[in-house]
Amino acid sequence: MKQVDYDVVVLGAGAAGLFCAAQAGLRGPRVLVLDHANKPGKKILMSGGGRCNFTNYYVEPDRYLSHNPHFCKSALSRYTQWDFIALVEQYGIGYHEKTAGQLFCDDKASAILAMLLDECTHAGVQVQLSTSIQALEALDSDDARYRLTTSQGVYTAHSVVIATGGPSIPTLGASGFGYDIARQFGLNVYPHRPGLVPLTVTDHFREVCQRLSGTSLTVDVACGDRIFRDDLLFTHRGLSGPAILQISSYWQMGDVLSINLLPNQEVLTLWREQQHARPKVQVKTWLAEWLTQKLADEWAGDLATRPLSSLSLEEVTSLSERLHHWTIKPAGTEGYRTAEVALGGVDTDELSSKTMESVRQPGLFFIGEVVDVTGHLGGFNFQWAWSSAYASAQYV
Ligand SMILES: Cc1cc2nc3c(=O)[nH]c(=O)nc-3n(C[C@H](O)[C@H](O)[C@H](O)COP(=O)(O)OP(=O)(O)OC[C@H]3O[C@@H](n4cnc5c(N)ncnc54)[C@H](O)[C@@H]3O)c2cc1C
Repeated sequence: MKQVDYDVVVLGAGAAGLFCAAQAGLRGPRVLVLDHANKPGKKILMSGGGRCNFTNYYVEPDRYLSHNPHFCKSALSRYTQWDFIALVEQYGIGYHEKTAGQLFCDDKASAILAMLLDECTHAGVQVQLSTSIQALEALDSDDARYRLTTSQGVYTAHSVVIATGGPSIPTLGASGFGYDIARQFGLNVYPHRPGLVPLTVTDHFREVCQRLSGTSLTVDVACGDRIFRDDLLFTHRGLSGPAILQISSYWQMGDVLSINLLPNQEVLTLWREQQHARPKVQVKTWLAEWLTQKLADEWAGDLATRPLSSLSLEEVTSLSERLHHWTIKPAGTEGYRTAEVALGGVDTDELSSKTMESVRQPGLFFIGEVVDVTGHLGGFNFQWAWSSAYASAQYV
């Protein structure tokens, strides 16, 4: 098979890979992007409910999980959310802030993908799809340091960038390929698990969730010392919604969640204030003023039809405890079928935080989700893809 020589070969035509290729191409080298999927950027297209939450106004290192929380700082500070917003504006892509700094396209996510592909074309980058990578070998040469054997041909490259993401949503072409390559070259890889993922419950809780399926409310959800305030959604299988997706990245099997279903009210105080003013109102009607009727019925339990004035302090204290400190032990997660990201991945100690290059394997770079850096929900994961891609693109 004919061998074609490139300066840089990027594996993965997703968010990080396309952005890295475009930025690197602008500096002059011959850049090739390879992907086994038949289309580029599939996750971008389905991200943010089809509108791509491409970054966040409030990007800070503490919005990322990693065994080394300092690693992401360098890349995030050298290519910031403001840099990416400027690029989006340069392309005339309309966007808006949805909530808490989260920036979404006004129209479709495809605008972001089209922008990345346009940048690649502009920089002379070649994007080749439907190409499976069969082998990556290090060569004994200063020029062509790597040889890639693929279903479409053999390529050599001075630098290889692994931007193949994590294993979430395998139907979109996701794989653990990047972890395998890292291990092949002796790099440590932290065990991975699904993050930003709905949680499942069993037994009695499952029945509760099924009865309340479709109900959503704002809660505080805590796991250990982590707490998030956002919406929770009851589903047929358990719990979802942004609050649960956020906490799922901190949850480990066996952990108990503590959920405050009424974070803006204090049940005991409300009762003290209202038991004399509204003595006859039933508990379920009273609670439905802050919760949905279905939730009020479920949580009021035996007290549902009792008038407010008939409750003892002990009964109200117990009701308050159930509402403000609902504890639940999830049985698991919905797994990579629905997870937005994979936690864990290539150990950041193996990489330079400035260049994203392997410390022990010169010319081999890892960027985006394959690295052990995982963002909170809200555009942080794409920002990591852009920032880490930019960092590597200056040095490939
Ligand atoms: C449903 C969903 C919604 C999301 N919404 C958001 C959001 O709104 N905002 C946000 O910040 N993040 C969001 N994310 C997370 C975000 O999509 C990822 O963090 C981001 O895409 C990671 O970029 P990446 O380039 O590292 O990997 P990817 O974008 O996943 O790209 C990896 C590429 O590598 C290719 N590849 C994989 N294995 C191989 C192989 N063996 N050979 C060749 N090619 C391979 C894949 O086909 C893919 O094209 C969402 C994720 C999902 C699943």
